[in-house]
Amino acid sequence: MTDSRPCTDLVERYTSVQQRIADAASRAGRDPDEVHLIAVTKYASLAQVRELIERGHRDFGESRMQHLLQISAQVQEYLDRLRELGDADAVADRIRWHFIGHLQRNKVRRVLPLCRLLHSVDSLRLAEEIQDCGQEDRPPSEVLVQVNISGEKDKYGVAPAAAQHLVDQMTTMPDVRVRGLMCMGPQVEGTDEDKDTLRAVFTRARELFDDVQRASGLERFDILSMGMSQDYEIAVECGANVVRVGSGIFGEPSPEQVNAEAAGAS
Ligand SMILES: *Cc1c(COP(=O)(O)O)cnc(C)c1O
Repeated sequence: MTDSRPCTDLVERYTSVQQRIADAASRAGRDPDEVHLIAVTKYASLAQVRELIERGHRDFGESRMQHLLQISAQVQEYLDRLRELGDADAVADRIRWHFIGHLQRNKVRRVLPLCRLLHSVDSLRLAEEIQDCGQEDRPPSEVLVQVNISGEKDKYGVAPAAAQHLVDQMTTMPDVRVRGLMCMGPQVEGTDEDKDTLRAVFTRARELFDDVQRASGLERFDILSMGMSQDYEIAVECGANVVRVGSGIFGEPSPEQVNAEAAGAS
């Protein structure tokens, strides 16, 4: 965590991302309010996160458990302090944390109580672990099934052909509520040809989402989480209603940050 980056750039980038999402939604004939932006705090400083909260942003995403524990605690401390100072309006609605990274089963119990939506369920065993962590005094855990839509070997997620089956299995679990699908576009350079590739991949994801929604008949199977800094506009044009943007808001991470992340990866 560093607090050195100026927040003026942050606000400019944040506003620009919001505008680009709205424009992409309009191009696709959709209501911009349908699309929700998750600010991915992987490489963000606490000062940056606070700045966004002060501007009314509420949805944040983390991909590693240690980061989630640390930053959500820091944010909570900050909100408690605001509350003590009587600034209740500023913190009226709660911050929603999204877990977007690969989750090991032994970490489920710690992550679940902190997060509003878990985007990365990619196996029956993980779903069963979430079910086992269910508690009577808590509503069912809301989750997405992560699909490896591009078929790249180094990506997590179930094969597209297996998504329906996993969703069906999860609908039998009373403490798990499956709300939709999450996927990632392939890593590309950004040429026109790459954009066509992304469009094809995201369109496939959208079709799969529609198919599963229809076949499962779930009323609240309504979230399609796709699109990151490199491709969120295309994802929105193809039907995403949740996008997860990190560097596009918080700036490119320094090489030191990237190395620290790689060294800490489990
Ligand atoms: C890091 C991450 C993001 C955000 O990536 P950026 O390229 O920084 O926007 C989105 N989704 C997942 C699953 C991630 O791990």
